[in-house]
Amino acid sequence: MQSLTNRSKQVSNKEMTLLERAYLPAILNGMMITLSHFFRKKATIKYPEVKRSFAPVYRGMHVLKRDENGAERCTACGLCAVACPAEAITMVSAERKTGEEKLFREEKYASVYEINMLRCIFCGDCEDACPKEAIFLTDRIVPSDTLRERFVYGKDLLVEPMEESKRVDISKRQTKEVLEFKKNKELQHNRLK
Ligand code: SF4
Ligand code: SF4
Repeated sequence: MQSLTNRSKQVSNKEMTLLERAYLPAILNGMMITLSHFFRKKATIKYPEVKRSFAPVYRGMHVLKRDENGAERCTACGLCAVACPAEAITMVSAERKTGEEKLFREEKYASVYEINMLRCIFCGDCEDACPKEAIFLTDRIVPSDTLRERFVYGKDLLVEPMEESKRVDISKRQTKEVLEFKKNKELQHNRLK
């Protein structure tokens, strides 16, 4: 019967030779292929003992930065949430009280700031949209977990520690090209009209 694709092949019914019936050449051929792989450079690594280095522009877990005095930079303007294509960011704003100047840089701050890491596609639009240099993506991996609710990261996980020595280094991702990109308003794909 004519096949639809015309790719069918006639199966040979010829008798197998003695060697073919012993399967020895086929087995030896298979072993040679396996052996040849022993001497090739391995494509895999022994993770987690060995780790691959990431690209300088790798976008991983976010950080909410503090300023040089340790005050939270975020002013809960909501631009990051508006720019987020995955609608992963939610926040609640609050008014800074007298005496809280050292905690929050602006008069308005985010009392709640959450990112749903399961929704996030790590595009970096929130970072580009932020007028206060408050949110950055880092080279840190979001750890795996078994419960969905644990992927909603709040300020406890996002705001960097107050101690100078424990601050999150974002300089690795802020390459010359990234800084040039940020300066050029024409290249900002998420600017609000
Ligand atoms: S990286 Fe992109 S998807 Fe993730 S929170 Fe920021 S804007 Fe949203
Ligand atoms: S992180 Fe930046 S853009 Fe987002 S609310 Fe805070 S100040 Fe605004």
